[in-house]
Amino acid sequence: MNAEIISVGDELQRGEITNTNSAFLAKKLNSLGIIVKSQVTVGDDPDVIISSVHEGKRQADLIFVCGGLGPTADDVTLSAVAKALDMPLRTDISTWQHLLTIFVQRQIDVQPENKRQAQYVGKLIPNLRGLALGSWVRLGKQRVIILPGPPSEFQAMVEQEVIPMIIKEFNIQKTIKTRALHFLGRPESNLMNDLTPVMKAYPNVMITSYVKPTNIELRLTSFANKQADINAEFDLVTKMILEKENEYYLGMGNDFSLASKVVSLLKQQKLKITGAESLTGGLFQSTICSVPGASEIFDGGFIIYAASAKVKLLGINPTLIEHNGVVSRATAEAMAEYSRERLDADIGLGFTGVAGPDSLEGNPAGTVWLGLARKGKKPISKRLRLAGYLGRQEIRLLSVQYGLQMVLR
Ligand code: ATP
Ligand code: MG
Repeated sequence: MNAEIISVGDELQRGEITNTNSAFLAKKLNSLGIIVKSQVTVGDDPDVIISSVHEGKRQADLIFVCGGLGPTADDVTLSAVAKALDMPLRTDISTWQHLLTIFVQRQIDVQPENKRQAQYVGKLIPNLRGLALGSWVRLGKQRVIILPGPPSEFQAMVEQEVIPMIIKEFNIQKTIKTRALHFLGRPESNLMNDLTPVMKAYPNVMITSYVKPTNIELRLTSFANKQADINAEFDLVTKMILEKENEYYLGMGNDFSLASKVVSLLKQQKLKITGAESLTGGLFQSTICSVPGASEIFDGGFIIYAASAKVKLLGINPTLIEHNGVVSRATAEAMAEYSRERLDADIGLGFTGVAGPDSLEGNPAGTVWLGLARKGKKPISKRLRLAGYLGRQEIRLLSVQYGLQMVLR
C-alpha cells in the first residue's frame, strides 16, 4: 500500500515554516508498512490543490491533504478537494452549534466563512483539539484524508483517529490498544514535560494528552504485532508515569468517573460522606447522587450560600466568618467539620470560593477553599487558584472534582 502527502500553505511553500506535519505522518505510515510515494507542498491555490489531488489519485491508495482548513480567505483546501473529487460539502450541525456558542460567549460576530469550520466531505474526522474538522473520503479502494494544519491538532488526529481507521479498513495485522489515565492538579505542559523520559524509554507507546472539562487525560496508544503483550507494556509505562505523578492521579479507563470511584471506595470502607456547599450550590451532592448506589454512603448535606445560612444551618460562629472571611481556610474547615458532625458522617467536605465573574473579599474569581474533615482527625484544607476566565460553571465543576480528589488521598 502506498500514500501521497499533499501539504497546503503559502508559508510552507515560502519556507517560513518547516513541514513537520508531513514528516510526522510519513513516520507513522511507515511504521504500518505503508510506503509514502511522494510528498508535495503546494500554496493556498485551489487550482494547484485540485491538480495535486488528481495526480495523487493516479498513483496512491491513500491521499492526504493537510492544512488550510481555517475560516480565513486563504484557507481553500476543503472546497478545492471537494471540487477535485466532485463531492458535496457537508455541514456538521452539532459542530456548527458548538461554534455558534463559542462566538456568542466570546462576543465575536459570526461571519459566513466561519461555517467552513463545520464542513467536511465524505465522513468527518473529529478534532478534539481545535475547531476545523477532518474528512475521510472513500473512493473504491482509495481514501482521501483531509486534516487541519496546526501540529497539535494534526498529530492528535493522526494518532487517535486516522491510523486506527487505516488499520481497521485495510485490515492491517497490527493491534492497536489504548489506555486512558486521568490526572488533576498538574498543568498539561508540565505533565507532558515530566514524561519525556517515559517516552524515550518506551518508544512504541505513544502518549498524548487531552484537556477535558474535569481533568487531564493521558492516552497511551500502542500499535504492535498481534501477539505482543501490550497490556504488560502499558503496565510498565503506567508504573513509570505514576512514580512521578501519583499525587495528581485519579484513575484509569475510558469511562472513568471520579465520583464513581469515590463512591465505590467509600462503600468498600463503609464510610459515609456529606458536604456543606457554598459556591458549588449543591453540585457536589448532585454529583455524588448521580452514581447508582450513592445512598449507601450519602445521607444528605447542606447548601449554605450566604454567610447567614452558614451560621443558621450549621451553627458556625459568625465571628469566625467575619474574622477570617467567607473564602478562607477557617471557613472551609468549619463547614467540613460542622456538616460532618451534624449528620454524624465519617467525612465532611466544605466548598467555599468565588465562582465569578466578580471578585469577593478581594479574592479574584477562581479562588476556592476546600475543607476536608474526617472523624477523629483535624480538618485539612486546600486552596485552588483556578483561572477566572474559565467561567462560573467550570470553576464550580472543577471545585467538585478537586474536593473529590481530596477524599481519595
Ligand atoms: P487554522 O484554523 O489554524 O487556520 P488550518 O487547517 O487552516 O488551521 P493552516 O492555516 O494551514 O491550518 O496552518 C495553521 C498553522 O499550523 C500554521 O501557521 C503553521 O504554524 C502550522 N502548520 C500548518 N501546516 C504545517 C505543517 N505542514 N507543518 C508544521 N506546521 C504547520
Ligand atoms: Mg489557516
